[in-house]
Amino acid sequence: MERHSGWKRKSQEEIKRLNAFSEQYKQFLDVAKTEREAAAQIEMTLRAHGFTSEMNGPRIYAVNRGKEVIAFRKGSRDLAQGLKIIIAHIDAPRLDLKQNPLYEDVDLALLRTHYYGGIKKYQWVAMPLAIHGVVVKADGTLVNLVIGENDSDPVFSIDDLLPHLSHKHQDDKKLSEAIEGEKLTLLFGSMPLRGEEREPVKKAVLGLLREQYGLEEEDFISAEIEVVPAFKARDVGIDRSMVGAYGQDDRASAYPLLAAMVDLDEEPAWPVLAVFIDKEEIGSEGNTSAQSHFIQMFLQDLIEGLGLGNADALMRRLLFRSKAISADVNGAVNPTWQEVHEKQNACYLGGGICVTKFTGHGGKVGANDAHAEYVGEIRNILSKSDVIWQVGELGKIDEGGGGTVAKYLAEYGMDIIDMGAPILTMHSPFEISSKLDIFEAYRAFKAFFVS
Ligand SMILES: [Zn+2]
Repeated sequence: MERHSGWKRKSQEEIKRLNAFSEQYKQFLDVAKTEREAAAQIEMTLRAHGFTSEMNGPRIYAVNRGKEVIAFRKGSRDLAQGLKIIIAHIDAPRLDLKQNPLYEDVDLALLRTHYYGGIKKYQWVAMPLAIHGVVVKADGTLVNLVIGENDSDPVFSIDDLLPHLSHKHQDDKKLSEAIEGEKLTLLFGSMPLRGEEREPVKKAVLGLLREQYGLEEEDFISAEIEVVPAFKARDVGIDRSMVGAYGQDDRASAYPLLAAMVDLDEEPAWPVLAVFIDKEEIGSEGNTSAQSHFIQMFLQDLIEGLGLGNADALMRRLLFRSKAISADVNGAVNPTWQEVHEKQNACYLGGGICVTKFTGHGGKVGANDAHAEYVGEIRNILSKSDVIWQVGELGKIDEGGGGTVAKYLAEYGMDIIDMGAPILTMHSPFEISSKLDIFEAYRAFKAFFVS
């Protein structure tokens, strides 16, 4: 069980290929920072590769509320024998604007936020932020907002306390309490409206929103506006071997999955299903999450579209016989915090895609624990295809833990296992991945689909 860097196994030619793949991956990261944007990009790519919403074709896709996408390829085997399924999530930790966000204080206009998912609050202050989202106006029309991504756009930021004055209110506190959720307010403007006595800065920014986007203050009530880092994906390291970007959990799986789905040369033997899911970061709740019934509905429509008879019974049988991968990232051994990992069972950056038999916390609580037989099958597929891979748990026992969507799919009776790229500084605004691991994720997903 010796460990080797994946890079040592790659020829110059393969390194060229994985670098080209990572350029496309970085482009995806830049245009798909929110779940809605990711869903739109995925739909665009699928359509460009002949996927349609016709439920009787060989390549089919469906979108749920602009936040979840399912793509299907028919394959040559009988559908009743089961599917090959890979599921990745497209939501990421962020700050959402509150429903009544705008206020003025000390001659500044500010926006209140409510954070989404597992963030470390101190990581979100003092850096350039962009806002992305949709606003549904009183008349029902929908306005798309993206501000802060073009170099000529303004950006926003959250103020931190200067070190000179932070002793009592921050420095002596626990790290988790140094920045409170309610203090994550976005700096939005500072120029007052001339001749206005009451809240002149707030009135001025509202004037701009009206002028530029046709929005009124009340429209925030029916809006979903997400605050995300304003910077683009970048190469990291003097050797450019890594990618630094926001949202790699779980675009490090979603993008390779999308690429694998459209790149399969001919129709695969098994029918294959790629699922791009929302709301993983808040426990898979809600009707665009892995706990919603969209997958079932899609399969029922599919079975009916293909004229295969009693959809309900067939769907349950085929799901039970399916083989699945829950494609999600894992925490790579952190060079300066090695003590949180049990290094014999941890994953390493550049070591290839990481296979995780179980997740959960405190004695596998809340885990999907893949059966040895299934781990054996996966091991076989990866080794046969010469995929560079490793096994790893998330951290030492009782150090913390985490879950994925695996357990929600396991409820249907299918075999499922977690797999994904190791990530450094996971859930931060600037997560780090290895270009090699992202490429091996793509190769692993492809190998799984065609096996
Ligand atoms: Zn994730």
